[in-house]
Amino acid sequence: MERTQVIIVGAGPVGLSAAVCLAGFGIDCIVLEKREALSTASKASTFQPPTLEILSEFGVLGPMMQMGRVADRIQYRTAAGAVLAQFDHDLLVSDTPFPHRLHLEQSALTQLLLDKLKRGPRGEVRFGCTFLNVAQQTNDVMVRYVEASGAKREIAADYVLAADGAHSTVRDALGLALEGSAYPGQVLRLVVTDPLSDIIPGLGQVSYIFSPDNSSISLLQMPDCWRVIIRLPDGFDPEEVVLPEWYMPVVRQYIPQFPGELTLREHDIYGARKMLASGHGTGRVFLMGDALHLTNTRGGMNMNCGIHDAYELGGAIAKAITLNAPELVERAARRRRQVAQEQLLPRTDRNITGGANLLAQMRTMSADPVQAREMLVRAAMLDMAPPRRLVQTSRVQAQ
Ligand SMILES: Cc1cc2nc3c(=O)[nH]c(=O)nc-3n(C[C@H](O)[C@H](O)[C@H](O)COP(=O)(O)OP(=O)(O)OC[C@H]3O[C@@H](n4cnc5c(N)ncnc54)[C@H](O)[C@@H]3O)c2cc1C
Repeated sequence: MERTQVIIVGAGPVGLSAAVCLAGFGIDCIVLEKREALSTASKASTFQPPTLEILSEFGVLGPMMQMGRVADRIQYRTAAGAVLAQFDHDLLVSDTPFPHRLHLEQSALTQLLLDKLKRGPRGEVRFGCTFLNVAQQTNDVMVRYVEASGAKREIAADYVLAADGAHSTVRDALGLALEGSAYPGQVLRLVVTDPLSDIIPGLGQVSYIFSPDNSSISLLQMPDCWRVIIRLPDGFDPEEVVLPEWYMPVVRQYIPQFPGELTLREHDIYGARKMLASGHGTGRVFLMGDALHLTNTRGGMNMNCGIHDAYELGGAIAKAITLNAPELVERAARRRRQVAQEQLLPRTDRNITGGANLLAQMRTMSADPVQAREMLVRAAMLDMAPPRRLVQTSRVQAQ
């Protein structure tokens, strides 16, 4: 039977990050992906500072910086143009070599990671290969999968990492459940090419604009467009809300000076769930990314947390193989689930349930540099990411 060291199921941002991490340690891995090619869907857009540190270590940050948009401030504004609170990432200069977010489509990252794997000898990505089931013995895991042709194959490995997304069939095969609930309501995302920072002078790359009734819209600047996120009312008509006759009056509540109609590139409607897998894995099979945790998109954290999962598990597997200490991987996987449960989910929850109270807190915090820095450390996930190897090394050398 074919054998490798690690099988990764799923070639999304998390699975491919794990593969690049493992390949960097000289560990052989095979990524099984059921699609025929990488997904190009427009999903995550925000790369947080600790993720940039990790991606720099993986050797893919240079081209990302060239393609992406640096976001160095978060603003809370009124429709009348007043800035109620602003958080400048400069406050993080002593916390990270990358004191900013980077806005870029996640599909740009997955392509760079795939290209990197193709250039090296260690990580192979097999498209059109769907995971079927897994069987475990003491030191071995055997995965069965089916190719696009219908041919069934088996591979044995030391470890399996499940990065097969929210509907993970690896998680199902382990008998684990995804537990939690859906957030009420849905949002309309408009992707527009209008120069919003000219129309709203001084606009931050991440801005929340509040109307007097404390409702808000979110604006996020991508390299060549803006994402405008509008919360939809209960009982909305999905065909009606995508028409300018519906959304332009809403947009004008927050941007009254907007001339004419938005120039729409695309739109979609989506909801969010707050979910956690009932366990971190079983035996030598462990969950990461959306297979382990799901949350809302406000603050841009879920994929970032998934990449941190991949980095921590990749490092633990490398160490476990060197030291013949599989318990290190189990411990890392347990910790990642704990991070999702105790930090990721409560924090992203507060991002959308804060309401009027949230705005008042933001105003107080932004006025005090110490509190503003603490807020940015949390928003940037610097306090919940795994320790980074190279950043630590360079800090030690610098002392
Ligand atoms: C609109 C939107 C905006 C978002 N914005 C942000 C943001 O700004 N920041 C952020 O951090 N997160 C954001 N997210 C969340 C982010 O997109 C996800 O967390 C991320 O895609 C998870 O990556 P993943 O690799 O775990 O899973 P996925 O991206 O879902 O990848 C899973 C892969 O596994 C494959 N697969 C599934 N089943 C099998 C099988 N049986 N066999 C083989 N392969 C299989 C799938 O085809 C897929 O390629 C956003 C999400 C949405 C929808």
